[in-house]
Amino acid sequence: MNSAVIGAVDIGGTKIAAGVVTESGTILGRLECPTAPAEGFRAAMRRTAEMLRAVSRQAGAGYAGIGVACPGPLDPLAGIVGDVGTLPGWQGGNIVAELSGEFGVPVVVENDADAAALAEASWGAAKGSSRFIYVTISTGIGAGIILSGELYRGVDGAHPEIGHQVLDSSGPLCYCRARGCWECLASGPAMTAWVRAQNPDAPELTAAQICELSRGGDELARRAVEREGYYIGLGLANLVTILTPDAIALGGGVMKSADLFLDRIREVIRNICTQVPAEKTLVTLASLGADAGLAGAARAWIHRRRR
Ligand SMILES: [Zn+2]
Repeated sequence: MNSAVIGAVDIGGTKIAAGVVTESGTILGRLECPTAPAEGFRAAMRRTAEMLRAVSRQAGAGYAGIGVACPGPLDPLAGIVGDVGTLPGWQGGNIVAELSGEFGVPVVVENDADAAALAEASWGAAKGSSRFIYVTISTGIGAGIILSGELYRGVDGAHPEIGHQVLDSSGPLCYCRARGCWECLASGPAMTAWVRAQNPDAPELTAAQICELSRGGDELARRAVEREGYYIGLGLANLVTILTPDAIALGGGVMKSADLFLDRIREVIRNICTQVPAEKTLVTLASLGADAGLAGAARAWIHRRRR
């Protein structure tokens, strides 16, 4: 066996990825399997352990520890899954107990947005910035905040739910029971719902399809894109005014069409954030892409072990 590496696990609603990651962030190998949440938490942990053993054999390296990125809500310090919308029936499952029992090494669990924030701050778009916010815009909006090089946590390890900041109290009703949350106004499904509301006869379009139509000159799609850029910018402007970080990096599916939104986003921030040096906050794109999950899981392990 080679020198020790980190086992990394990225749990999503659709698939689980497991990989071998070095201390400098190089991914040496990876495997994936369907999450199949209906088969239950323990079955998924057994599949995860099998993948971890297989990639470790392939890489010829043993694990110093295992980092896991998982959607919230969860208790990151105990490693216990909460009531996650995409993982029904998993509530109460203890990831740390399952994997440390299996491998006999320290296991660290982190909210997936926090894990990605740690990876982008160390190995990605925000390398070297000590005040950094990672924002992912896709089906929902999530974020991780790093202040003075440390992951920010609220009381009892609470994860900041920036996607549920209210931007328009007369806006659409959110499952969190507030109206006009950022997520309800600027997520991918929010684009879909807005276009549908303007033209109930139109077929249901994904955010990606709306972006394509906008590029082709479709007027309704163009307005949807303009509105999306405005609301992404408005939510980010609040973050800039409150925290004025060195950098904000944007990831997630909607940001695959970032070229359509970035100018508008930066304009909104410029116009609104007059009381802080907003021009010093770099607004950029996340750079780890599909690797963010595994890199984030490994980085979460390194970050926690160093404290
Ligand atoms: Zn909400």
